[in-house]
Amino acid sequence: MDENINIEFENHIRPQEFKDFSGQNKITDNLKVFVKAALMRGESLDHVLLHGPPGLGKTTLASIISNELGVAMKTTSGPVLDKPGDLAGLLTNLEKGQVLFIDEIHRLSPIVEEYLYSAMEDYTIDIMLDKGPSARSIQITLNPFTLVGATTRSGLLTSPLRARFGIQCHLEYYDATTLFYIIKRAAGILNIEIDDESASEIARRSRGTPRICNALLRRVRDFAQVKGSGFVDIDITRFALDALNIDKHGLDSMDNKILTTIIHKFNGGPVGINTIATAVGEDAGTIEEVYEPFLIQEGFLQRTPRGREVTAAAYTHLGVSRRPESGSLF
Ligand code: ADP
Repeated sequence: MDENINIEFENHIRPQEFKDFSGQNKITDNLKVFVKAALMRGESLDHVLLHGPPGLGKTTLASIISNELGVAMKTTSGPVLDKPGDLAGLLTNLEKGQVLFIDEIHRLSPIVEEYLYSAMEDYTIDIMLDKGPSARSIQITLNPFTLVGATTRSGLLTSPLRARFGIQCHLEYYDATTLFYIIKRAAGILNIEIDDESASEIARRSRGTPRICNALLRRVRDFAQVKGSGFVDIDITRFALDALNIDKHGLDSMDNKILTTIIHKFNGGPVGINTIATAVGEDAGTIEEVYEPFLIQEGFLQRTPRGREVTAAAYTHLGVSRRPESGSLF
């Protein structure tokens, strides 16, 4: 699928205000207070760090914050800003109170990151004029602004950067009930007729992630149009999700790879995170921050003092029978 079509689709159904953003209630309740307080004082909102796995609504929350503040948002991302000059250009163009959104902020280069410190703290930056012997730097005062940073890997943020965010929010995976409402809302916007049973089925198989449930809704609609009457009912939904190889519990291929590796190579665990990472060929931090929280939340994996261990539910899910412990009498 074309990346641009995906982005266009996401922007079309992206909630614009807090009232349309389902779930994450603790976060939105707090943000509403901070936004209101900043508006009442006529000040810019403190810098906000949003962290959590992909597709849970970090970009959406950033744009809701700027909408609710009544200001424009400029968007960039960590890997794009490779020179301090790129950042300086953005910062000096911000108007009072505007929001600068930096996605994947953990991927800023150290030199750009250091440049950000004074901008965040005192709204000033140093700019170098000229080169060679006549080079000198001048300090520029910026308009007060709000930096909203998003990251899937908060463990990779340096502590000086993290400390400069006055507001820090960790987004959690969504439960199936909340995803059900997100699907119904998206279906309404896209004029997709879908019954409640089908919406629940998609919600259960979306890995707790709004981006996935919206994408599945779109795929199921395709099947309903081509293979059925256009109406999304439970038969067409199950047919479509099975045709797409969507796991019954919404686990993705890496989730299943982690579980099968622990079962087959390490007899179900306990096994250390670094060993798992090497065995599945993924970064240990990514497993810890992106995959493991969902597997633990769904009851397939547990952390023990001796390492990670799969649960009985994982054996059942994968249709594997548990091997007896070595040294066991049976
Ligand atoms: P992230 O930036 O965390 O990767 P996004 O903010 O881009 O995730 O969200 C992905 C998609 O999921 C967006 O298109 C948005 O419409 C939808 N979405 C995310 N969170 C919610 C929510 N709480 N309620 C409704 N839709 C949501």
